[in-house]
Amino acid sequence: MNSNKIESSYFLGVRVDRLDTETAKDEVRKLVRKRDGIMKPVYFANVHSIFLALQDHQLMEQLNYAALTLPDGSGLNWAGKILGNPIVENLNGTDFTPKILEMAEHENWSVYLLGAEEHVINKTAQVVQLQFPKLNIAGYHHGYFLGQKEQKVIDDINSKSPDLLLVGLGSPIQERWIWENRDKLNVGAGFAIGGLFDFMSGEFPRAPLWMRKLGIEWMYRFLNDPGNKWKRIFIEIPLFIPLIIMAQLIPNKVK
Ligand code: UDP
Repeated sequence: MNSNKIESSYFLGVRVDRLDTETAKDEVRKLVRKRDGIMKPVYFANVHSIFLALQDHQLMEQLNYAALTLPDGSGLNWAGKILGNPIVENLNGTDFTPKILEMAEHENWSVYLLGAEEHVINKTAQVVQLQFPKLNIAGYHHGYFLGQKEQKVIDDINSKSPDLLLVGLGSPIQERWIWENRDKLNVGAGFAIGGLFDFMSGEFPRAPLWMRKLGIEWMYRFLNDPGNKWKRIFIEIPLFIPLIIMAQLIPNKVK
């Protein structure tokens, strides 16, 4: 699905596109302008999703064949430097998606917000509307609908036919849901945005700027949600760089 013109790097077999903010925005613009009734997946690859993909072949394929797979987080920054092939820019979803919403407002695109708990998505819709007053928020729905209510949600999205759908169900549920429903959804592009709605609504505070600048936002997220995030800190992050180095030493086995 990736137009072959985009240059990519591979981290433990997972494709990551080599784009800066402006070029990534241009690519999203193309996806929306050429919308053809099949939603185009836009994913963010980070250390956690790469570990999930190593254990889930379908997720690996979804990341590798998405319209865009953007580099998310300092882990990829470090790994790229070690491999002598630095990523062009850290396009993490929390910072990049608001830039897409700004573009959507400017381009008169409509947006549907899907995910998080009900009070969180209600608040997010208000906050987004305040931040981008002219943005057309076509609709929104909480993220606890899988199973019986799924068709109703799909019908609601299709009745609004938004240009963008932001899906925040957490990895790998959101990537799978976007992938499996992409040809049922009359949407331009579908973004897998993880816990973004929790941040935008103010439900979870974002790390202070100094931590983000140091590339240690993951530490702050762990301290705020240790029960769910401990594996990322104590297993995935420490293993990631050694695995990247090993994969480099055994070329042709794992890219
Ligand atoms: N979530 C949801 N539906 C589900 C499971 C999770 O809407 O069935 C939401 C949850 O409320 C949270 C987000 O998905 O807003 C997951 O956030 P997290 O930061 O854990 O995402 P990840 O980093 O795993 O992508």
